[in-house]
Amino acid sequence: MRWNAVIVAAGASSRAGDGPRKPWRRLGGRAIVRWSADALTTAGAGAVVIVVPPGDEAEAASALAGLAGWRSAVGGATRALSVRAGLAALADEPDDDAVLIHDAARPFVTSTHVERLLTALEAADGALPALPVADTLKRADLTTLPRDGLSRAQTPQAFRLGAIRRAYAAWPAGAGEPTDDAQVLTHAGGAVALVPGDPMLFKLTYPEDFHMAEQLVQGAATTRVGHGFDAHRFGPGDGVMLCGVRIPYDRTLVGHSDADAGLHALTDAILGAIGDGDIGEHFPASEPKWRGAASSRFVEHALARLAARGAQLVSVDLTLICEKPRLSPHRDAMRARLAALLSLPLDAVSVKATTTETMGFTGRGEGLAAQALAVVQLPA
Ligand code: MG
Repeated sequence: MRWNAVIVAAGASSRAGDGPRKPWRRLGGRAIVRWSADALTTAGAGAVVIVVPPGDEAEAASALAGLAGWRSAVGGATRALSVRAGLAALADEPDDDAVLIHDAARPFVTSTHVERLLTALEAADGALPALPVADTLKRADLTTLPRDGLSRAQTPQAFRLGAIRRAYAAWPAGAGEPTDDAQVLTHAGGAVALVPGDPMLFKLTYPEDFHMAEQLVQGAATTRVGHGFDAHRFGPGDGVMLCGVRIPYDRTLVGHSDADAGLHALTDAILGAIGDGDIGEHFPASEPKWRGAASSRFVEHALARLAARGAQLVSVDLTLICEKPRLSPHRDAMRARLAALLSLPLDAVSVKATTTETMGFTGRGEGLAAQALAVVQLPA
């Protein structure tokens, strides 16, 4: 069955505490809206409409950068108006198509949820995931409400596009605000099927929901470690670049770029953690444009590759090996520079210095070597 998706990201986020509006907040390194957009695209959606509040178009474009097949619609003052705007953006799609209408604040939707809904839609005008109420329900005055037959309606909810269009058009002006789309279809006489809901389709509403979602993401993530090594030769000069910090010395490090062995080892460690080649492959020494380049560019490139995989850098640990210059007076400056470059807290950035007790090429003062480890979390 051909189907499209409308993701409603236009709510006020008034219960979610401080910070950016819900859909643009990050969860495991990805904007919350991006989780649903990626999942529904992977599940086979044709068009994906993101309904955005007026003025938030730039946030949406940034959150969805690189995703193919999405378009935005500007939402209204209520959820129902936003859904109508999303449906209007699908005006060219045929009535026989299905549409899945989904809350951006439910990031853990999967292809399995989609398949269940589309199967149910073969025999109904609409389908929704419903989760039985497990807790005892109390009013504020402590009277207990019967919970038999009660369910929590989740999203995505699936509809025949023509049926939900007609149902919204027929919703009476004086009937108040519908809180979900199945209600609108039922009111218009459409048949709605229930499919089993899933606790993982919970809605991020309160600050503690975000905390729980972050823990779920971290618990499901895979930890990877990458290692990098580099060495550069000393030559005539008056200082070296190490970990992005200039250190005065009576020689310099010789190389095609600024010869920052620390950042080169780090670049290889980050690339190594995601199995993405090495610095020589990404920045061939044969290309003149890297002559004298600041090595922070190489690290930024590796970080962009990491982000494209949805991965997050967790910590780095560098060891610099030389007899001279003495590095310990510069260690705090190097850690601070790396923390800023990597957007990591200071305690996730380690820089250590050692010698080889006058043995080998570092011991003879011919050059300097660097080793780096990068710890990375990949999403499940
Ligand atoms: Mg190098």
